[in-house]
Amino acid sequence: MKEKMYKYAPVLLLTGGLGLWLITFLIARYVNYKQGLVWISLLVIQMVICTTCGILIKKLHQQVHTDTLTGLRNRRYFCAKLPELASKAPISLILMDIDNFKSVNDTYGHMAGDQVLQQFAGILQNNIRRDDIIARIGGEEFAIILPQTDVKKAFKIANRIRTAVENHLFAYENITCKITVSVGIASVKECTNISIDQFLKITDEALYKAKGKKNFIVTVAEG
Ligand code: GH3
Ligand code: MG
Ligand code: MG
Repeated sequence: MKEKMYKYAPVLLLTGGLGLWLITFLIARYVNYKQGLVWISLLVIQMVICTTCGILIKKLHQQVHTDTLTGLRNRRYFCAKLPELASKAPISLILMDIDNFKSVNDTYGHMAGDQVLQQFAGILQNNIRRDDIIARIGGEEFAIILPQTDVKKAFKIANRIRTAVENHLFAYENITCKITVSVGIASVKECTNISIDQFLKITDEALYKAKGKKNFIVTVAEG
């Protein structure tokens, strides 16, 4: 039922709006204009329709930008937000990839892997600041946008996360396991005219270098 409602939402809204208009028209034509109760009722109906629409749009907007497994922002949000924030440099970007994650799935099962991803997301949330943005941009790949943050500060935050992950005992039912994460960081200063693609590319290259060692952080500072 709900699915159908979403599918036909524009038609339902248009029909509802036209129906309300028709009722108003008929009342204005055939009923005494000054019947306050009728007008108040129509106003209430209108308010309910508008508020419901507003709530649904807000919910939809949140869902479209949220990763269902971890509750973090998703890749779509990350791609929209990065260019917006990059124009207000200095800014740092952290890309993370969990090490040997396939072996977690292979050893303990996919459900355990999902739990690890959720707990990993919790660690990220506990170690960032209010204005930072975390997103899950791939299966076991995460990104953090740090506005107004230089490379030194970004490294400090990334290292805090790396250490927290290394020391955390991930638990699922009667299984416990440990994981590590590799991190690439790039920072740009205000004066640099770097494109978003370039910014992502250099951060990804830093991550690639970090992956060579695993449980490691590589930083790049531009400009
Ligand atoms: P590396 O250290 O080189 O990053 O190795 P890796 O095993 O982490 O990387 P690889 O790309 O070989 O494997 C990633 C794995 O992540 C494979 C895939 O099954 C798993 N994965 C991706 N998304 C999810 C998910 O949503 N849930 C679970 N449980 N596993 C996932
Ligand atoms: Mg990966
Ligand atoms: Mg990996």
